[in-house]
Order: sequence, then C-alpha cells, then structure tokens
Amino acid sequence: MSNHVLSGVMGLCVGDALGVPVEFMDRDALRRNPVTGMRAYGTYNQPAGTWSDDTSMTLCLVDSLIKGLDYEDIMAKFLKWYNKAEYTPHRVTFDVGNTTSIALTRFARGTPPLKCGGKAERDNGNGSLMRILPIVFYLRSCYGTDFFEVDEAREIIHNVSALTHAHARSKVACGIYVSCASCLMERQDLKKSVETGILKAMDYYRNHPEFSSEVHHYERLTQDGFSNLDESEIRSTGYVVDTLEAAVWCLLTTESFRDCVLKAVNLGRDTDTVGAVAGGLAGLYYGYESIPDEWLSVIARRDYVEGLCNSLHASLGKI
Ligand SMILES: [Mg+2]
Repeated sequence: MSNHVLSGVMGLCVGDALGVPVEFMDRDALRRNPVTGMRAYGTYNQPAGTWSDDTSMTLCLVDSLIKGLDYEDIMAKFLKWYNKAEYTPHRVTFDVGNTTSIALTRFARGTPPLKCGGKAERDNGNGSLMRILPIVFYLRSCYGTDFFEVDEAREIIHNVSALTHAHARSKVACGIYVSCASCLMERQDLKKSVETGILKAMDYYRNHPEFSSEVHHYERLTQDGFSNLDESEIRSTGYVVDTLEAAVWCLLTTESFRDCVLKAVNLGRDTDTVGAVAGGLAGLYYGYESIPDEWLSVIARRDYVEGLCNSLHASLGKI
C-alpha cells in the first residue's frame, strides 16, 4: 500500500523549501534567474532545504491527527510552533501570517478553538489552505473515498480552516483542495481527477446558501479553458483564490512533480505557499518516488518530518 501521507506532505515540504529563498520576488526577476533546485540564503537568509510556516503548520496537523481529531490539540500544537518554535527546521519561527497570528493570540487568551479564526473578508489569505492537506488522510480513513458526500466530513474541513481562517471563501478553498487531493490519490488520469475533484466540491457549494455567494470567486477553475490560460492571467499572490488557482494551473500544465513545483515557485510573489499547495497535490499524484532525491536529501530535519508522516500513515491504517 502506498504511503499517501509521505507523498503529499513531502511534496508540500519540498515545494515550500524551493520557494522560501525567493519569496516576494516578482515574476520578471525569476524569469531572468529561475529557480531550478534548492537554493540557500535569499529572502530569509536560511540554508538550502529550509521549510517555513506552511510545512510547520501542516506538521502540527499531522502530529495531532495521529491521536485522532481534536481541535483544541491542533491549536495547542500551532501555539507551540508560534511561541516555542517547535515543528520548525532550525528552532526559529518565521513567516507568520497576520490572520493566523491574531487567531493564535485569541486561543492563548482562552477563546475556544472554533471561535478563534478571522471572519472578515480581508481574512482570506492562503493561511488555512497551505496547511489543510493532512485532513484528507483522516477523512478517507473515517468516511471512505466518498467522504465529500458526508455532512460531518465537510464540516470537519471547514472547522479545521476556521481555527485560523473562518470566512466562507477560505473554507470553500480548503474544500475544493481537499476534494481534488482525494481524487488525485486514485492516480488515474490527471485532468479528469482534478476536474472531478473541483466539480464535486463546487456542486455542493453552489447549492448551499452559506457558501453559494462565494462560488463565483472560483468559477474560473471550472471552465474548460482554465489550463489553457496564459501565465499572465495567473496571479500568485497570498490571496487564497489566487493561490489555489495558481497551484491547480501548475499541476494541469506540467507532466512531472519536478516541473509542477518549479513552475509554481517561478510564478513569483508568494512562492513558498504556491509551491507548497501545488507540491502537495503533485506529490499525491506522482508519488513520493517522483520527488527528486537531490531535493529530499537537503530537506532540514528530513528524518523527523518523514517520521511524523509515517506515524500518521501507520495510525490511520488503510487510506
Ligand atoms: Mg511560508
């Protein structure tokens, strides 16, 4: 049985680490000097293979899910990352988003976990999308491959987003992403899997009043010509809609793990998160064995990261 946790989370981690040295660089600058592998230093002056908040918060969720679903425990682990630099490559917490920071401060002051996340329209950065991936493994183990049909399963996705990002737009992004991730785990035709994942989620959101006013933001993803859009029409900012679109577009317009994550990072701006979100999907589809060895071998604390993935895989059984 393939270890999907390892494939998805290491894909995400490698995409994050490729993007960290060039975060905030614009597309023209990267076109002149494109990322082709793991670089050292750059934006945060970190050694090659250093991953950031995207992977740290993903690992908090991986670690928490080993013992089952507990929102209080997930937030407690986020707080250990935020305050004590646990779940980090070099014992330093860097690159924390505003909405996440405010939610964790609320939790530290005693607010219940599901009441901590920002609900305003400006709280739609990609901060919950970048860390939602591990919930797909848990949901498949509890509810099977058709978990998106189950009310309780969808509510879990939305709740895990809402710990930091509680606006409906962020919840919808997480739902679409998790639905796609699950379809990609079947490792059938790439385009069909992505299309099925997106349509399944959009069908639900279109027909539920809590979300229906948000679906127009994601309409481009459902259009036939989406993968034929020119790069100039793809934005790679930290806005959740842009990040999801950019990641899916990179997956649909490439044919290998390597090409997908390099394309994502070289879009510029929020390079680590677009790389992480694309890398999670590409890792699930192409598999752990498709991630270049020369990238995996420099990942900071690789044994620790892979150890957490293996523990979750073992605890969930067949997914
Ligand atoms: Mg980051």
